[in-house]
Order: sequence, then structure tokens, then C-alpha cells
Amino acid sequence: MSVDYELEINKIKEYAKNENIPIMQDEGIEFLKSFIEKKQIKNILEIGTAIGYSAIMMAMVNQDIHITTIERDETRYLEALKNIKKFNLENRITLIFNDALNITLPDKYDLIFIDAAKGKNIDFFHQFENNLDTDGYIITDNMGFHGYVEMDEALLPSKNIQSIVRKIKDYIYFLENNMLYRTVIYKIGDGIAVTERR
Ligand code: SAM
Repeated sequence: MSVDYELEINKIKEYAKNENIPIMQDEGIEFLKSFIEKKQIKNILEIGTAIGYSAIMMAMVNQDIHITTIERDETRYLEALKNIKKFNLENRITLIFNDALNITLPDKYDLIFIDAAKGKNIDFFHQFENNLDTDGYIITDNMGFHGYVEMDEALLPSKNIQSIVRKIKDYIYFLENNMLYRTVIYKIGDGIAVTERR
């Protein structure tokens, strides 16, 4: 039986909305898809699967793409498994149920997409930078964090948000002052950083 992809994607988006699961914004996912196409990306590592939305969208760019994606929340991991099956993408998307900071991987990737705990980006970067191909890219989402990163700190609604904003700013500083990597941050979706080796 053939799958109505558009309908299934809309169902995943609806589920994410109802269950309060953050997934990539439309603008961000469109950027990611065209980046993958333009740079002819084939092997992707994603940190932060949630329910598989971005992994499925990236895999659908073309048939040659393989994705390894890591999720530590069991309910989300199980939902992602179901969704990936629905799209018949089990052969091209490998799901790992674990805390990304607890595992090391043997393979190289031409794109590492970081979209997990916003305060842990530096840790994820270090954990997986050895898995980056020489000419590969690291893309990180949520650099703007719903506009909070540009706001005056005193106006931020909670201590928790203040703490996340500080960590995102630390990550931006880390990227922009890195002698080994060069980064461009795009004001697209929730803010996307594209990093490559110098
Ligand atoms: N990339 C997904 C998409 O656009 O469809 C959205 C991912 S969501 C923003 C972030 C996910 O990262 C959450 O489901 C969370 O459980 C997961 N996460 C956070 N920290 C993690 C870690 N250390 N290891 C694995 N997964 C993590």
C-alpha cells in the first residue's frame, strides 16, 4: 500500500504540537533540506531525534541519504520508530536509543546536525567532532531560542530560560572564536549555525 507522505507528515506535526514536542520550524527544515541537496550530503548524524520528523524530512531529500539519529527519551524514541516504519525508511534511518553524551560512534559523517538539549551544544560538539568528515559540516539549531538570545537578560521570563540563553551565548562565542572551525549563523527558523573546518 502506498503512503500519503504529506498526510503522514502533517500527522507527525500535529502529534508534536499536541504533545508539546519541539520539532524544527518549517523555515529551518527547508533550509536544512536545500543545504543537504546543494552540498550533496550523504551520511548524516543527528543528535536529538524527538519523534523522527527532521530525520524523515532529511531522508526524503534523496534515496542515497543515510541517517543515524540519537534520542534519549523512550516514549519519543518509540514514536520515532513507528514513524520511520510508516515511511519505509528503516533501511536508511538508524535510530539509537541512548544519551548522546554516553556513546561514541565509529563512523564518519558529512553532516552532524545538533538539535538536542540547548545548553549542551558544546558537549555534543566535542563528543562527535571526530566523527566529522574532513569536508563535513556541523549544523546547530536554536541559536536564537525563540528570540530570547537577543533579548535583554533582565527581561527574560525565568531563571531557567536565563540559564539556557547564557549557554547558547557561550556556544556562539565558542563557535565564533574557534581557530579550527568557521561558523555562519543564519536568522532562519529558530536560528541556525553552519560550521565547517577552516
Ligand atoms: N530534531 C527533531 C526534529 O526537528 O524533528 C527535534 C529534536 S527536539 C528539539 C530535541 C530532542 O533531543 C528531545 O526529544 C530530547 O529528548 C532529545 N535530547 C536532549 N538531550 C539529549 C541527549 N543528551 N541525548 C539524546 N537525546 C537528547
